[in-house]
Amino acid sequence: MAKLDLAALPIPAKLRGRPLPPTDLGLAWWAGGPFVAVHLMPLGALFTGASAEVWAWFVALYFVRMFAVTGGYHRYFSHRTFKTGRAFQFVLAFLAQMSAQRGVLWWAAHHRTHHKFSDTPWDVHSPIRTGFQHSHMGWLFVPELDATDEAKVRDLARYPELRWLNRNWWAPPVTLALLCLAFLGWPGLFITFALGTVVSWHATFTINSLSHVFGRRRFPTTDTSRNNWFLALLTLGEGWHNNHHHYQSSTRQGFYWWEVDVTYYVLRALAAVGLVWDLRPVPAEVLAEGRRRDAVASTAAVIEAEEAGAADEGVAPVG
Ligand SMILES: [Zn+2]
Ligand SMILES: [Zn+2]
Repeated sequence: MAKLDLAALPIPAKLRGRPLPPTDLGLAWWAGGPFVAVHLMPLGALFTGASAEVWAWFVALYFVRMFAVTGGYHRYFSHRTFKTGRAFQFVLAFLAQMSAQRGVLWWAAHHRTHHKFSDTPWDVHSPIRTGFQHSHMGWLFVPELDATDEAKVRDLARYPELRWLNRNWWAPPVTLALLCLAFLGWPGLFITFALGTVVSWHATFTINSLSHVFGRRRFPTTDTSRNNWFLALLTLGEGWHNNHHHYQSSTRQGFYWWEVDVTYYVLRALAAVGLVWDLRPVPAEVLAEGRRRDAVASTAAVIEAEEAGAADEGVAPVG
């Protein structure tokens, strides 16, 4: 398997000569006030308790919001890996924004930048360049990164309803919070909304942080992306991050049947009822290359194990 020198990732030839980004972008911790507040809100349930119904909605809404982040923000708006109509496009954007991860254009613009510059000095959330904490969530509090770079999302910015949502990014999560409060009472606000938001935040953030650190690298991409089955389960399929960095245009990120990708299964179901269509497949040659690389990796592991065994037997007792 290809090895990367993580301490000295080369800058790809096409990026050399590009002016380096400023290194003095400071964090504005005051901007983290609402973020901290949502983290503290679940403590309210210590005083109110929470019924089984509240917990059931917590689980259900985790799936809905996480699906909207991966199927909507990521696979649709950032990468355009399938098609849908204008109304369902709006629904996807609204549901994704219920996760309180800012606006749809902002999210897609930053994500496209991540792929263009992965793990180079221009990548704003690279754990090997800026450290775990910064790549996980610190970058969210850099004021210079608040603006939406519309030049990167011209295909999306031509829809006024998406621009409206992007400007009023707080409206969907506030709507959800009020619905939880109205139908489930205070425990709904504390657990279903706030705890659900916190869990889906950190699950999403692991793809920027942990998925570039822990896991297996099937494809020798020029970044540090990895495949991690645990993160794939947690994030409904996003953990197959090395597959995704290698081939970004397919709807599917778990390339083989054993790589569980719940978002893809849901999109297949939505395609079956006609809400989405033209799901882009993984090309046969990419699948074949992956199989070849898996075979080489396991052969290398067998040889390594045999050599280790032979070395152990070869040690002569002293004395
Ligand atoms: Zn991506
Ligand atoms: Zn990545």
